[in-house]
Amino acid sequence: MKNISEMTAGEASGVRYVLMDIDDTITRNGKLPLSSYSALWKLHDAGLKVIPVTGRPAGWCDLIAREWPVDGVVGENGAFVFWEEPRPREGGGHVHGEGRAAEGGPAPRLPVLMAEYHPGAVRNNHPVLVRVRERALAEVPGLRDAKDQFARLFDIALDFAEEDPVLPLSAAERVRAIAEEEGAVAKISSIHVNIWMGDYDKLSMAERFLGSRFGWRPEGAGGGEVVFAGDSPNDEPMFARFPLSCAVANIRRYEGLIGELPGFVSTKEYGEGFAEIAGTILRMRGVYE
Ligand SMILES: [Mg+2]
Repeated sequence: MKNISEMTAGEASGVRYVLMDIDDTITRNGKLPLSSYSALWKLHDAGLKVIPVTGRPAGWCDLIAREWPVDGVVGENGAFVFWEEPRPREGGGHVHGEGRAAEGGPAPRLPVLMAEYHPGAVRNNHPVLVRVRERALAEVPGLRDAKDQFARLFDIALDFAEEDPVLPLSAAERVRAIAEEEGAVAKISSIHVNIWMGDYDKLSMAERFLGSRFGWRPEGAGGGEVVFAGDSPNDEPMFARFPLSCAVANIRRYEGLIGELPGFVSTKEYGEGFAEIAGTILRMRGVYE
């Protein structure tokens, strides 16, 4: 991993899409600091496509797609993507509180929330997932359901580090082994072990979305149009695919668990590290605050 300061102007100028993990990449201790939220706005305002790619649930992604300065959000580790599209309102009706459209003028437009689900995604009441959860809770002391489970459609999330007691990574690895024994897919994030059925991950859904929504061609410029920022083992498929991938400095906790490290790493940790990455990309493109 090179320090992010070594990214060249040539590399930064080719970037069109900035994708990022959420937990412990743009957050710190579970909060979204001003520096990283502001960085999302700056990337958005500079005309880059901003797309979080997260293990967080559908219920959170509805809010993110609607309220954050993003062009889409991939959730539940690739089970779906949500995005907003501007659409003319049926019948040209007016927007409550905004006054009536001028006679003969353009119809007011409200964005519409769109969703695409991965064809391999299986709802999380699948008997294999039920069995994995029961075994993991019984066999790994201290493990518990993630509190955001109620908002999930396709995966189960078991918490080992979002709340106390924080369990060692070996506990998360044990959960992953149980899931794989039972025939499910499991990925370890910085807070949860996410377990699902179906042949998808963060990368496969991100690539589908970039292609279908923006016409991105994977064979195009070798992936150099895409920057992905992440922090943990469930980000590895993204690190492996995009040569301009970046990690925040806290990735060093997982170095032994990640086979494919990203090309760049920030000096700072967590959301401040993401702001450093975003600021470097913008500066190298000639955008100054
Ligand atoms: Mg993370």
